[in-house]
Amino acid sequence: MVNISSPLDFQEESVAYEVKKLKKQQYFFIASVLIVISIIVALCNEVTMPKKTAKPPVIVVRIDDVQDFAFKDAQLYLMEYSRVNKLPVSLAIIPKFFGMDHELVEATIQAIRAGSEVVVHGWEHEDLAQFALDEQNLRLLEAKQYLEKTLNTETKVLVPPMFSYNSDTIIAMETTGYTIISGLSEFHEKGWASVRIQSIPATIELSDYGNETWQMKSRSVILKEVEASIEKYGYAMIVTHPQEFMEYNSLNRDVANEYEQILQSILENFSFNTIEGISNILQ
Ligand SMILES: [Zn+2]
Repeated sequence: MVNISSPLDFQEESVAYEVKKLKKQQYFFIASVLIVISIIVALCNEVTMPKKTAKPPVIVVRIDDVQDFAFKDAQLYLMEYSRVNKLPVSLAIIPKFFGMDHELVEATIQAIRAGSEVVVHGWEHEDLAQFALDEQNLRLLEAKQYLEKTLNTETKVLVPPMFSYNSDTIIAMETTGYTIISGLSEFHEKGWASVRIQSIPATIELSDYGNETWQMKSRSVILKEVEASIEKYGYAMIVTHPQEFMEYNSLNRDVANEYEQILQSILENFSFNTIEGISNILQ
């Protein structure tokens, strides 16, 4: 028997079809509304929720006395550790004794490429304050130009050897294109040494010196000093020397391990920067 749909059946089918279509449209509408609402909520969260907080880049490790051939294992280790772990450091170089040790020069260039900076540590590690203004001018200019030529990078920071400088040093710095002096907070104020020269002294010494030997401070002592420095100055600058990492002419691995643990502990709350980087934050 052939089943022929009556007009009524057809009408019912047509109504059912319309209802289905309408429901589909409703579902589609509700789904669209839900999607739009979730996009709006996501956008609002983006605006109102605090971003995953970045660690304040307020810690500087300043490595003084970088020079050819001396304390070689320690110098190369400090630069390599910094480069591999992407922790910028400030390398205070003695220009007159730098440039012949190709391994050191290459490591320094790599360090700069990885975000570290080089700064001038006198011309030949001299006590600048004992020289007249003209002589300081010559020495500061020669030091700056030599490092710029050898490493193809500009530097505007002076770390006076033996933390010693006077008002003529500041005048000579202005004349020869420096903008930042970095001594030691024990002797020098943070702030402005003149209208154009900013003073950002080191605030922490990594090691104690006595009986002609260096003794690295414990991690807990350094961490306390870091907290106190940030509280007082808004940053912490830890000064160290390659000599502190040497024992019998090679790298003292125990000291290196302790140094790494100190840096890793600091990294839990802060990140590392250069002196020029800190200068921008403090201004
Ligand atoms: Zn020095």
